[in-house]
Amino acid sequence: MRQLWAPWRLEYIQSADQQEACIFCSASGLEDEAGLVVHRGEHAFVLLNRYPYASGHLMVAPYRHEGDLGALVADEAVEIHRLAARATDVLRKVMAPQGYNLGWNLGRIAGAGVVEHVHQHIVPRWAGDTNFMPVLADVKVMPEALEATRRKLAEAWR
Ligand SMILES: [Zn+2]
Repeated sequence: MRQLWAPWRLEYIQSADQQEACIFCSASGLEDEAGLVVHRGEHAFVLLNRYPYASGHLMVAPYRHEGDLGALVADEAVEIHRLAARATDVLRKVMAPQGYNLGWNLGRIAGAGVVEHVHQHIVPRWAGDTNFMPVLADVKVMPEALEATRRKLAEAWR
């Protein structure tokens, strides 16, 4: 099995310790457009990853700043699960992926860019996308592309 190769992620992870503010706490306090927020639930919210493994790479995080997965309360854990499942439905409608990887990166060594605020990744997958990864590296930080994707997903979510 080939793994997704995303070199910009490494750069991001290496610089993550230098970032002062928590990106999840910041994003939840911003307008949807600025925070790349796709959907806001009661205890958790869904946002696009600015440093994606693939186009449409979403994350679900609790509003509460919590770094310990086991410390999530039941309402948070259940809503994160349901939002992640719904995210796969919304991605299917908008981007027609052929599969998904859902997961939690806990700890820097496991690839977590932010260790102090737990979050679940939803990564849509297409056949051959590992070959496409280096190409995506060039579009990853184009704000217009991210905002267009965010808008499409947010509209499909309603
Ligand atoms: Zn936070």
